[in-house]
Amino acid sequence: MLQERSVKTLIDTFEGQPLQSEFQGNVAEICPVGALTHAKYRFQARPWDLRRTASVCPKCSYGCNIFIDARVDQVARFVSNDNPDVDDSWLCDTGRYSFPELNRSDRVLNPEARLAGARQTVSYQEAVSRAAGALLRVLGDHGPEAIAFLGSTQVTNEEAFLIQWLGREVVGTPHLDHRLSALEGISPEQFTLGIAEIEECDAVVVLGDEPELADPVLTLRLFKAATKLHRQVLRQPRDADPEQLAEQLAGKELVGIVAHQDHRQAAMALSASLARQGTPAKVLTIVDGMNARGCQDLGLTPGWLPGYRPAPSPGRDGGGILEAAVDGSLKALVVVGQGWELDPGFEEALTRVEVLIGITPFVGAVSRHASVLLPGRTIAEKAGTVTNTEGRVQRVRPGVQPRFAFPSDLRILGDLAAGLGADLGVQPLAGPVYDLIARAVPGYRGRLGGLRANWTLSA
Ligand code: SF4
Repeated sequence: MLQERSVKTLIDTFEGQPLQSEFQGNVAEICPVGALTHAKYRFQARPWDLRRTASVCPKCSYGCNIFIDARVDQVARFVSNDNPDVDDSWLCDTGRYSFPELNRSDRVLNPEARLAGARQTVSYQEAVSRAAGALLRVLGDHGPEAIAFLGSTQVTNEEAFLIQWLGREVVGTPHLDHRLSALEGISPEQFTLGIAEIEECDAVVVLGDEPELADPVLTLRLFKAATKLHRQVLRQPRDADPEQLAEQLAGKELVGIVAHQDHRQAAMALSASLARQGTPAKVLTIVDGMNARGCQDLGLTPGWLPGYRPAPSPGRDGGGILEAAVDGSLKALVVVGQGWELDPGFEEALTRVEVLIGITPFVGAVSRHASVLLPGRTIAEKAGTVTNTEGRVQRVRPGVQPRFAFPSDLRILGDLAAGLGADLGVQPLAGPVYDLIARAVPGYRGRLGGLRANWTLSA
């Protein structure tokens, strides 16, 4: 608001009180004269010195579209890249101001391998060949079940698909995951409601506060639906009685149900209650992590093959993999990506396996204990696709170049497969691997244009 008058006019907050919102960065972004600036960007670069790249916010599964503005090899800021189907031009502060994490200086910069007890820098080719040799040794001595693969929600769809292919098809192990806790009973039916479709529902039921905490820009879509479009938005406890709620919503033409993935059964119970009384409903499940949805869709889960086909013999989930490492039944672990360090048992489990192969961008538990370590890329350095929580397949592009000249994570996975004697059949590049995905998962056919995967398509 304006304070004072005439030449003394100032832009200020009401009565000098600080703004309190998760969306304050938008105020500076839409400031028409550039008088309001972002503290984390101010004086870092002149706009004409920045290189702009369209990509996706890495901080949650909502998939807000961004521009990565970079100067030399540093991300200088994230700016909104309006996508009316997803973010409606808004970013939350958590996402907008998360870019300094990508500029961390504690990067893994060289391939390393444990030689005669000590880890040493080696050539890329030697690191890959040592990684493949170690896995072949474990395979020969203990069989495929002694090997596990752990991805993360920061891997692209193409990487997720290759990790599960390496695990299942090349090594033959069922133990693979992208998270450390179990995920049961997942299916495309839990993702029928699109983000923009919220505006078309007569009523939207939000179960618990987790969906908006996990994906903050969802709050703005619900706010728009309620205030501009006069839709009924009902925030309910996640254990609300589905029958009672269904009665309350009788006669609506379309009900949207939004729930966090930990409470997806409650959402499905409400959907079933509504169906019994003839009220159409669609469900939006909010998953945790940037590409958690892509990892689920493409089978980087122990219980499901790509496209949610049940695995014939489900393996251990991420937590089970760590337990097996501790109890000694797991001998080799391949870890790709980042983001598990907060789990209290993670580092200890890494110390117990005989062979730990890490492809990771930052120094941490994986880099400390890996027997073979390869420099990974951050999401701002990768090319490929990711899938947001509603199933929209969107492209990520490298906004900055890594500070090393080693191959991408995708190529490392391809080279590792070759070292294990497997032939991927295509170049380990985002485009050709996406073609493999589209062949394996009909819903992903032709999805490079930012559309939602179509789960009504069959093989
Ligand atoms: S809602 Fe999620 S994707 Fe969107 S800006 Fe915030 S953290 Fe990023």
